[in-house]
Amino acid sequence: MKQWLITGALLLSSAVANAEQAAHWTYEGAEGPEHWGELADAYKECAIGKNQSPVNLDSKAEVEAELSPLTLAYQAGGNEVLNNGHTIQVKYEPGSTLTLDGHDYELKQFHFHSPSENQFDGKNYPMEAHLVHADKDGNLAVVAVMFEEGAEANAGLKQFWPQMPKEADNTVALTDKVDVSALLPADHDYYRFNGSLTTPPCTEGVTWLVMKQPVVATADQVKIFADIMGHPNNRPVQPLDARVVMK
Ligand SMILES: [Zn+2]
Repeated sequence: MKQWLITGALLLSSAVANAEQAAHWTYEGAEGPEHWGELADAYKECAIGKNQSPVNLDSKAEVEAELSPLTLAYQAGGNEVLNNGHTIQVKYEPGSTLTLDGHDYELKQFHFHSPSENQFDGKNYPMEAHLVHADKDGNLAVVAVMFEEGAEANAGLKQFWPQMPKEADNTVALTDKVDVSALLPADHDYYRFNGSLTTPPCTEGVTWLVMKQPVVATADQVKIFADIMGHPNNRPVQPLDARVVMK
């Protein structure tokens, strides 16, 4: 009996924690970005954090640094595409890594925002991809790629764009494994700064690596994504506060 009570209490407290963790949020209105911090205790950092993402990358305020080249060892490994109502996300199987400061981060998933979340000199791009990596302790590093519109269809997107689920809360197994490296620009120069998740719970301690060179996608490709989302899915830029952006 006592055992049952303890188990019951644990189940209850974890159910409460999960409900809070999963408090509903949106990109506009009463549950929009201005209110994320009030929607759940677990979302507090969205309101009070001092290292929040996204940010405006101001070319006049960046600091020249000897940033080491990014070591990206990616292989084709995207095996599922998910529409979670907030974004379209491709899940990646183990085996693709980013090495930063001699430290390995494994690519877990990548997803999209339209318009872009980060800005260059106050300017949004039509779309931005976030490649989310985690090290063995769960520390996150995100490689961000901007998309500008052009005449040529983006070959990286072509791999899975037709398979994106149109309805929220759907996952589709990809017929061919997606290679994320097809989404990267030729030039791997990047900006580096500390930030956060750009969605609740807005957890900080995320290393951001934003590619300086945008890649090209057609207006149609961007529109297909925006139409599936049905609303902009970008958090507004957050104050840099005491942070420095290195380039
Ligand atoms: Zn993102």
